[in-house]
Amino acid sequence: MRIGYGYDVHRLVPGRPLILGGVEIPHHLGLFGYSDADVLLHAVCDALLGAAGLGDLGEHFPDTDPAYKGIPSLALLEETGNKLRALGFCVGNLDATLVAEKPKISSYKKQMAENIARALGIESGRVNVKATTTEGLGITGREEGMAATCVALIEKTAGAGQTQG
Ligand code: MG
Repeated sequence: MRIGYGYDVHRLVPGRPLILGGVEIPHHLGLFGYSDADVLLHAVCDALLGAAGLGDLGEHFPDTDPAYKGIPSLALLEETGNKLRALGFCVGNLDATLVAEKPKISSYKKQMAENIARALGIESGRVNVKATTTEGLGITGREEGMAATCVALIEKTAGAGQTQG
């Protein structure tokens, strides 16, 4: 059994769609980035990669590679899940938190959790998505950007060999 932690921040800019947890949410600002800039999914990927001892998202999907320009982060998450499975890991559970002042995302949380679960091929009950504001403080409070964190627990499936360490 291993745990991992992921953290990410993206800038909010006009003229980009706002995609969080694979859900496009109506808003006058969107997140800037090389992929679709889905900050929540990036934190989820980093938590999973970290738990497996596989480094970070930028190493696996570099922003210098044209293959990843504008790519949906759900595809990156699916590929991350494949990398873990190849090492004999399955996902125990994920707990992710989005830090954003606006818009309200409570009505989208269930869909986000379902998207994450589907991309990883696990039951949605293993995925928890939360949201908080920073009460107007800091980069998220001033709506300059959004941040996300995630912790992940992964387990070696029965019969799989030992990893490094
Ligand atoms: Mg990112």
